[in-house]
Amino acid sequence: MRRPFIAGNWKMNTTKAEGVALVKGVAEGNTAGDAVEVAVCAPSVYLDAVATAAAGKVGVGAQNCYHEASGAFTGEISAEMAKDIGCQYVILGHSERRHIFGESNSDVCKKVHSVLAAGLTPIVCVGELLEEREAGKTTDVVAEQMYGSLAGVTAEQMKSVVIAYEPVWAIGTGKVATPAQAEEVHAGIRALMTAKYGEAISESVRIQYGGSVKPDNAAELLSQPNIDGALVGGASLKADSFLGIIAGAT
Ligand code: 13P
Repeated sequence: MRRPFIAGNWKMNTTKAEGVALVKGVAEGNTAGDAVEVAVCAPSVYLDAVATAAAGKVGVGAQNCYHEASGAFTGEISAEMAKDIGCQYVILGHSERRHIFGESNSDVCKKVHSVLAAGLTPIVCVGELLEEREAGKTTDVVAEQMYGSLAGVTAEQMKSVVIAYEPVWAIGTGKVATPAQAEEVHAGIRALMTAKYGEAISESVRIQYGGSVKPDNAAELLSQPNIDGALVGGASLKADSFLGIIAGAT
């Protein structure tokens, strides 16, 4: 049985005070208890304050990291640093990282290994562009991103990985994938994992859906057999709407 995992990706939003108030609001309003794993992924400069305010009641994640543990990499943060200030998760390979900042599967893969080496959970994002979907390439694109981003990850390590399927055309657009569209890709992702890691591992890995998840569409998406959680952008910036999505997972 896979425990639902709802994570907020705040992207480049909030002030420090807003972020602290938001995570406190989520912690106080969350009535799901152990039934749902919950995390917020704050801008890196606020992670320390947000992790302190979360006080262990809500998980905290970074939105990216560099693959080296330390050194002369101006402007970057490492998985070790995220761990040091209390993070449990790092989002990797988000479509905005891939398409705005030019991250390749091989970049994402190095980061995945660094996050696993630090003992944190990578949330590895995959997803096709609209033109790729329209050209019938969704399966190929997702398979290439999966295998490329997870190269060298062992079956044992895979148990600590979370996958997020985020169709790029659904991110921030209000155009949510239908539950059937999302389920079809999620089932395909699980089949790819089964082929590589075997059924026992594949059945244990959570696959989140991301892209215009809101309180009013969360429950139906999350009721699909292979949709094990959500990676939420815009609707994670208000405690009420994020809590509504968490409630949809119960
Ligand atoms: P929205 O929920 O704003 O569409 O963003 C999704 C996303 O990119 C989460 O990582």
